Amino acid sequence: MNIHEYQAKELLKSYGVPVPVGGVAYSDQQAAQVAEEIGGNKWVVKAQIHAGGRGKAGGVKVVGSIEEVQKTADAMIGTHLVTHQTGPEGSIVQRVWIEQASEIKKEFYLGFVIDRGSQRITIIASGEGGMDIEEVAKQAPEKIVKEVIDPAIGLLDFQCRKVATAIGLKGNLMPQAVKLMKAVYRCMRDKDALQAEINPLAIVGNGADKLMVLDAKFSFDDNALYRQKAITEMRDLAEEDPKEVEASGHGLNYIALDGNIGCIVNGAGLAMASLDAITLHGGRPANFLDVGGGASPEKVTNACRIVLEDPNVKCILVNIFAGINRCDWIAKGLIQACNSLQIKVPLIVRLAGTNVEEGRKILAESGLSFITAENLDDAAAKAVATVRG
Ligand code: ADP
Ligand code: MG
Repeated sequence: MNIHEYQAKELLKSYGVPVPVGGVAYSDQQAAQVAEEIGGNKWVVKAQIHAGGRGKAGGVKVVGSIEEVQKTADAMIGTHLVTHQTGPEGSIVQRVWIEQASEIKKEFYLGFVIDRGSQRITIIASGEGGMDIEEVAKQAPEKIVKEVIDPAIGLLDFQCRKVATAIGLKGNLMPQAVKLMKAVYRCMRDKDALQAEINPLAIVGNGADKLMVLDAKFSFDDNALYRQKAITEMRDLAEEDPKEVEASGHGLNYIALDGNIGCIVNGAGLAMASLDAITLHGGRPANFLDVGGGASPEKVTNACRIVLEDPNVKCILVNIFAGINRCDWIAKGLIQACNSLQIKVPLIVRLAGTNVEEGRKILAESGLSFITAENLDDAAAKAVATVRG
C-alpha cells in the first residue's frame, strides 16, 4: 500500500525528521487559506498523486503570492496529471499540498529499500539527487552508494556517517544526517514499510545549513496492515483501480492487466501459469484473479462480475484445480453468474480435482454454452482462438 507525499512527510515529522511546514487542500480556496496560515512569502503547490515525476510534469509549482497559490491549486485540482510513472492515462489530482518553499543549496537522493539478494533493508544514496535520479542510475551508477543494514543490530552511526560522507555531507550536516537516517529506519521498522524514498533530501536555508526532506514516498507491506491501523487509515482508494478495491472487499486477489482474456483461477501459482499459457498461445490476459480456496458460488459470481467490468474483456477463461475448492461449487457459481449477469462473452472452463465429475455434469446439464477444456494448455489455446474470432 502506498500513501501520499504529505502523509509520508507527516509520518516522518512524528519521528523528528525535518520537513517543510505545510497543509493539505481539496479546493483552491482551501489552498489559499492554508498558505495564509502557514505564512512565509514563497510557497510550493504540489499535486498529491501516488506517482513521482510530478516536477517535470507540472505537478510542483513554486509561487510568490497567495493569489498565485489559489490560481495554481485551481489549475491542478481535477486535472489528469500524466508523469513518466503514471502511464498515459495519468492520475486525477484530488488534493494538493501547500508548503513553504525552501532555499535549496543542494539536492540528494536517500532511499531505504529491501534488497532481495541480501534480504535486508539497504540504504541507497546519491549526491546527485532530485528529478534526474533515474538518469544518474543509468549513466553514472558509480555515483550511487549502498549500505546494507543488519536487522539484528540495526542501523549504526558509523554506517550513516559512511553514507553521508560518500554523498558529500560534512561539518554540522553530519550529525543531522545520522539522526535523520536513523529516524527513517526506525519509522520504517515500526510501520512495516517496504520502501522509503526521499528525493530530494536537501541542504536548505540562508545562513546555517540544514537538512530537510522535500519529497518522500513510502510503501507498506499489505500483509502487515492488520497491525498498522494508522497506516491503513491513510489508504486513498481513489488512487487504486476500483476493480481491485472491490475484489479485495470480496476476498479476491485481482490485478488489472491490459489484454482481453479475462481469467478466473484458484491459487496464485495456477493463475500465473494461466497467464503464461495465454501469452504462449499469442493472447493477452486482461487480469490476474485468484479466487482462493473455498470459493463459494457467490465468490465465483463476484469474480465474473469484476472481470466483466473491464470493457476490454472478450472472453473468460476459468481454470480451477480444486483441492479445498469443489468443482461443483465453481460450476454452480458460473451458472449463477451467467443467469444474473447475462454474460455475453464466451466462457472457457477447465475443471480438475475435487468433485470434478459432478462439476462437469452440472455445467453440461445447465443448457448454457460453456466451452470446456481438458487441461491448461487446451484452455489457453481455446481462449486465444475465441478472441481471434
Ligand atoms: P517529484 O519527485 O514528483 O517530481 P518533488 O516533490 O521531488 O516532486 O519536487 C520536484 C522538485 O521541486 C524538487 O526536486 C525540488 O527541486 C523542488 N521542490 C520540491 N519541494 C520544494 C520546496 N518545499 N521548496 C523548494 N523547492 C521544492
Ligand atoms: Mg521527488
